[in-house]
Amino acid sequence: MIDISLGNALGSTGASDLFQILRDGRPRTRTELANLTGLARSTIALRIDALTELGLVGPAGDAPSTGGRPSSQFALATDTKVVLAVDIGASHIRLAVSDLSGRPLLEDATDMEVSAGPEAVLNWVIDAGDALLTAAGRSLADLLAIGVGLPGPVEHGSGRPINPPIMPGWDRFDVPGWLQAHFDVPVLVDNDVNIMALGERELAWPDVDHLVFIKVATGIGSGVISGGMLQRGAQGIAGDIGHVQVSRGLDVPCHCGNRGCLEALASGPALAKALRARSIDAHGSQDVVDLVKHGNLEAIQAVRQAGRDLGEVLTACVSLINPSVIVIGGSMAQAGEHLIAGVREVVYTRSMPLATQHLQITQSSAGVNAAVLGASILAIYHALSPAVVEAMVARHTG
Ligand SMILES: [Zn+2]
Repeated sequence: MIDISLGNALGSTGASDLFQILRDGRPRTRTELANLTGLARSTIALRIDALTELGLVGPAGDAPSTGGRPSSQFALATDTKVVLAVDIGASHIRLAVSDLSGRPLLEDATDMEVSAGPEAVLNWVIDAGDALLTAAGRSLADLLAIGVGLPGPVEHGSGRPINPPIMPGWDRFDVPGWLQAHFDVPVLVDNDVNIMALGERELAWPDVDHLVFIKVATGIGSGVISGGMLQRGAQGIAGDIGHVQVSRGLDVPCHCGNRGCLEALASGPALAKALRARSIDAHGSQDVVDLVKHGNLEAIQAVRQAGRDLGEVLTACVSLINPSVIVIGGSMAQAGEHLIAGVREVVYTRSMPLATQHLQITQSSAGVNAAVLGASILAIYHALSPAVVEAMVARHTG
């Protein structure tokens, strides 16, 4: 039988299919690949060549010899191409040039208020990104994609922030367009909690398909991974739990105009405010964390209660999506077990036994690196997706 795809062997579909097999990083011989795909070895060889020329696949030593000439193996080339990972927070920017496994090669950071506006912030990203690429010995041609996390709601389809409360001047700003004018690669933008969920999962829970990441800091939000996929919802604000009402706070006003919001009761500034009302000097998340670490009983009790408030809202989340892991991150997570103990107390008591039987509630492992790691994963998922690899091969061989 004639392999009708052979004439197009350097062309699109086949090479991408082969690449998706090699994406797991495990080295394989041409024979193994032929067995896996049912393709002729000659076809495999041509497609491996195309992917190697693109820098996506490379030689990975010889297979253990079974007598005779050893067979060369091929695997995902993680270090030829790179992505740029950008974590824009309320008052910081972190940046990394990362390889295709998400490992940062070089990093940079600066203190800059996001309220400085999109042009100032993104121009810093462009300058620092250029400098990092150069320092890492890479050119713009090696850059496959850029992943960006923003501290506010992002419309998933367009990558534009929508009415972000702490980002004056950013509403509907074309973030991808501004960066693409310089870098000319796909730019993926998401809110910071979603990318932290991706980063945490990549680092600590790679085999978990149902994970909720909660960020407790100046604000409160969550990133939901269900069925192995990040859930953004219809408009991109799925997981925005900060303004769900908590029963004990009905008289507490929130900056959103409502009363009793989770964020108005359990965020870092809310706890600091409650402690100030008791004549304890605290002005933000870090002060509260420091007080807890120094054993201040009132701060410990306040943090524990914040955990219970969080648990009240999370109980509904557990009923709705049945996660197997809930990870608590953000600056307030540094208050350690006190916050998590409050969450556990309520979630384990109030949820159905089947939902909590194997549910783990734990502190973030990725910590401050979760967002940069997640931004690189966002970029890599896109850059190595079947459609994008197919287009790269077609352009390369066309
Ligand atoms: Zn609110």
